[in-house]
Amino acid sequence: MGRGPDPASTNVHSVAMSLMNTTMRASVLTGIGQLEVLDVPFPQVRPADVLVRVKAVGLCGTDFHIFAGHSNYNTDERGALIPLTTQPQILGHEIVGIVEDAGDRARGLHTGDRVVLDQGLNCLSSGRDPLCEYCATGDSHQCAFYREHGITGLPGGLAEYIAVPAVNAIKITSEINDAEAALTEPLGCILHSSNMASRARSRYSLRQEASADQIHSILVCGAGPAGLLFIQYLRNVAGYDGLLMVSEPNTKKRELAAAFGAEPIDPATSDVVTAVSDLTNGRRADYLIEATGSGKVLSMIPQLIRKQATVLLYGHGHAGVDMSALNSILFLEPTLVASVGASGSFDQDGRPVTYRRALRLLEEGKIQVGPFITNRYTHLEAVPSAFSGDSSSPGYVKGVVLL
Ligand SMILES: [Zn+2]
Ligand SMILES: [Zn+2]
Repeated sequence: MGRGPDPASTNVHSVAMSLMNTTMRASVLTGIGQLEVLDVPFPQVRPADVLVRVKAVGLCGTDFHIFAGHSNYNTDERGALIPLTTQPQILGHEIVGIVEDAGDRARGLHTGDRVVLDQGLNCLSSGRDPLCEYCATGDSHQCAFYREHGITGLPGGLAEYIAVPAVNAIKITSEINDAEAALTEPLGCILHSSNMASRARSRYSLRQEASADQIHSILVCGAGPAGLLFIQYLRNVAGYDGLLMVSEPNTKKRELAAAFGAEPIDPATSDVVTAVSDLTNGRRADYLIEATGSGKVLSMIPQLIRKQATVLLYGHGHAGVDMSALNSILFLEPTLVASVGASGSFDQDGRPVTYRRALRLLEEGKIQVGPFITNRYTHLEAVPSAFSGDSSSPGYVKGVVLL
């Protein structure tokens, strides 16, 4: 491999200057719960980069966690957290935009191309040769040198512009709208985590030929954007036609889940453990996908799964329960799968396979995201209202900022 720029080269392309800009507007998280629209330095465009004018940014649970101070993924070389007050963060990692300019060594894209971005910088992004052991095995988001726009300190998409390596930008050739294309990244996360679950050594599998070991019942906990993507992935991509239950207290999300082919359970009005037991004739779930990040749900897992089930721990958070909640889970000897991000291998041109596949599934309509994009924000000044208020209202499922 080893395409891409020479990492030793630090010549900064002068696209920014040619555009006569030295600053741009961005929504900046300057402290916990403090979002401000500020003038920030215009992105530096290095030789293998493209400069992208941002068109759409999906707002994600990770953004809400960082905003609220529940998590911070920006650390120094020793792994210590760097507070937002020391290094403010431009959030936004589900990004669609238009190529505005390109460095001398950017390949495969032209000014005016519409692109979806992989926000993660891996070995190919930085032109490393040889690749690190994680990039070499198709785990791009675990890259030993990984850095992530919008999450680990690098500027995110909630700004007028962003510069990324050209190999991190995938050209959109269809008519898919910007808002829907912005959900390429979250769908990529569902593809990656489902791949992790299928790669795990487990008793039950979606693919087993022997019927005894085939997955007969799946419980998705939570029908937020992730849960709704999992349901469609299982039905329309994995071809799973067995019992697919979803527990979700929000009426709108439950209705969407049902429309996508799941059996909804309302934990507010019925006992989930009883409901799962009834629907499975006492077998409980062979495969549980935890997509809530709720501590209460985590502590209920032992009552919801079959012995040696597969449990995909997808949601983050889980506040409010102590680690002893794990004891009863471990006793059932499940296959626990942890997954984060839209990791994957690289195409011939160095671009991320998982993002390309996710984009194609959206373009083909195999996965529909239009029905659950409930909130659109048309300028950076409107971003704070998404974070403080809207996201906890009953009608909110997914917000996208359109610039
Ligand atoms: Zn996300
Ligand atoms: Zn790497």
